[in-house]
Amino acid sequence: MKKHNFYAGPSILSEYTIKNTADAILNFADTGLSLLEVSHRSKEFTAVIEEAAQMIKELLEIPEGYHVLFLGGGASMQFCMVPFNILNKKAAYLETGTWAVNAIKEAKLFGDVDVVASSKDANFSYIPKDFVIPADADYFHFTTNNTIFGTEVRKDIDSPVPLVADMSSDIFSRPVDVSKYDIIYAGAQKNLAPSGVTIAIVKESALGKVERAIPTMLDYRTHIKKGSMFNTPPVLPIYSALQTLKYYKSLGGLKEIEKMDVAKATKLYDAIDSSKMFQGTAAVEDRSIMNVCFVIKPEYAELEKEFVDFASSKGMVGIKGHRSVGGFRASIYNALPMESVDALVAAMKEFEAKH
Ligand SMILES: *Cc1c(COP(=O)(O)O)cnc(C)c1O
Repeated sequence: MKKHNFYAGPSILSEYTIKNTADAILNFADTGLSLLEVSHRSKEFTAVIEEAAQMIKELLEIPEGYHVLFLGGGASMQFCMVPFNILNKKAAYLETGTWAVNAIKEAKLFGDVDVVASSKDANFSYIPKDFVIPADADYFHFTTNNTIFGTEVRKDIDSPVPLVADMSSDIFSRPVDVSKYDIIYAGAQKNLAPSGVTIAIVKESALGKVERAIPTMLDYRTHIKKGSMFNTPPVLPIYSALQTLKYYKSLGGLKEIEKMDVAKATKLYDAIDSSKMFQGTAAVEDRSIMNVCFVIKPEYAELEKEFVDFASSKGMVGIKGHRSVGGFRASIYNALPMESVDALVAAMKEFEAKH
């Protein structure tokens, strides 16, 4: 049976990415070697990492003065790497979910943290709007897409201080004005590649302004100087990332991808909103086009488990909501076809008709 993959991360990748990665595991770039056993310093792999950085620059239209890095440690490593490198006295953070909470915790190790607003009081079901970014902060950090709670900031914020964004779960889902940011980072396993690599887009002029000693591996300048080859980078995920980037380009780039993502999300939210049995959990104006969170209405509560089983009997995987929200979450990343959204909508309607 065809599976419909709604996992939140690691998550669905394009067939193009998976097929080309599988091929390269058997014979990488006609070297007669597997991608798994080839030197990261071989000319064939050097070409891959350089092309991947170049394609990220192209797709996101990254201006001069920025570096694209491939790092280990996950997006969670960036929670400490960002303040280590650029927090002098005070940073401002927007608290919109679990990942923001984790980022704030790390920043506090390096200086004062001004949490300008939080939606914690409502279990992170919305994005706070009326906050003021202090002009004396070293930077303002926010999470563009709250993977667990299904809320998203889908535009580039205006800020009086440098912007830093965790775009782990919505990077490449829309065009971004990179010139507004000093640092953008994203774990690959939501919209790009298998887990193991994190991309960081770093503005050169943001660095070198803190006094503290920075461990070599945590210093962005180390990786800039060595083209992400200071130590062994995650070879396989970077190869897969390049395949995904090529696939995104073939789809027509980020404007086209955004249209497809919006169409998928709209169809699913419409089905939820018109349902007697289900309801969304995120504030309508802040709904994510990547992670659609919904619950079963209280009067049908006893059917929750049954719906998960019903959906899985139809080939759907990964729709159980995160334990901090409950209910269901359908992650509908770039690689998820409309056909999977249609299947979920049909399953919801059929289940509703049965009860
Ligand atoms: C998944 C996720 C993370 C954590 O990523 P790791 O690579 O597991 O450290 C951080 N931020 C956001 C928004 C995420 O979706």
